[in-house]
Amino acid sequence: MEYAQEMANGAPNNRCLPGGTNTLKKLNQILSKDTKSLDDNFGPTINEQILFIDEDVCIGCAKCIPKCPVDAIIGAPNKLHHIDSTTCTGCELCVEPCPVDCIHIKEVAIEATTKPRASSQERYNAKRQRTKNSKKKLTLDTEKNLAIANLYKNLTH
Ligand code: SF4
Ligand code: SF4
Repeated sequence: MEYAQEMANGAPNNRCLPGGTNTLKKLNQILSKDTKSLDDNFGPTINEQILFIDEDVCIGCAKCIPKCPVDAIIGAPNKLHHIDSTTCTGCELCVEPCPVDCIHIKEVAIEATTKPRASSQERYNAKRQRTKNSKKKLTLDTEKNLAIANLYKNLTH
């Protein structure tokens, strides 16, 4: 979102390395530009990879789950975690939070990345909506608890 804003303000359109050349082409179309290549200063291209969890090492801490923008990681606290290869876009955001370094990169054929990337925007939107809903519920629960606490206080004083 921040990079989209930057581009709207005139930043070069070749800095989305995770999106690779496909995204660059689309951005060229949208912005009527003809930028030829990605700027490697903004990271490696990750067009042809998915990630997987070494199940012998995972400790089930669940730190990777909230980092995944497309909810490709399946698991629960203290349980073994697994990455759904048909959903993972290879963005690597889950790697850094893993305390035991058990999330690894697997190179795959470009065709294997087509399906996850086609649905990634939809999955990202769904995750954002769900996160918003749970924050709203938390606020409502907190307000309700405060009201009950106040009522109790008034009744007992
Ligand atoms: S690489 Fe990205 S899409 Fe794949 S599981 Fe990790 S955070 Fe999710
Ligand atoms: S962060 Fe690493 S150890 Fe923790 S649940 Fe995820 S894969 Fe397993």
